[in-house]
Amino acid sequence: MKLKLNLDLKIETEHFNYYFSENSIPNFEKIKKFNEFFGLKQAEYGIVVPRTDYFKLTSQESKEVFGKKQTGAFSNGYITSIQWDSAHEASHVIGSILGRPPRFIREGFAVMNAADHNNIIQNPTIENLTENEFVRLMSDEGFYSLPEQEVHAIAGTFMQMVKEQEGIEGIKRMMYQDMPNKKLITKFTYNLAQL
Ligand SMILES: [Zn+2]
Repeated sequence: MKLKLNLDLKIETEHFNYYFSENSIPNFEKIKKFNEFFGLKQAEYGIVVPRTDYFKLTSQESKEVFGKKQTGAFSNGYITSIQWDSAHEASHVIGSILGRPPRFIREGFAVMNAADHNNIIQNPTIENLTENEFVRLMSDEGFYSLPEQEVHAIAGTFMQMVKEQEGIEGIKRMMYQDMPNKKLITKFTYNLAQL
């Protein structure tokens, strides 16, 4: 990859190669905590991720380097973010090693795991979701039919329930399969109405 922006600055931690521009001052406390989080998550899922390239860039810099402003985790295993510790994007890197389920499950996985780092659990504001509506969220069309934050909150809450009910093995099954089973969907849509 040819970088147009001069990213001379680099920090190597156990799990990340951080690249950043001279416009950024490293937050070592965040980096340390985040590195620990990534190690613990790998252990939790029983996988080892090769050291991951992490581009800490402003959105303008990101556009210069990658041609797009948005932050994200990319399939060849690197992260771009405006933060030093995007637990959401790092969780996508772990998720991509486990499998490639529908976007709803992938986002739910990232939201649920990032909550462990950020201590923030977004609760959905939606009160009822029918089983058919839930199934529709598994399609790309359905996923984009709700506001982004709302669908992320629903997905994260769903994956949290899977973890409570079936543990890490249940989460892994969800990451391998295309669809959650009917029992989980029924339970989740029922629980959502009780929140
Ligand atoms: Zn995401």
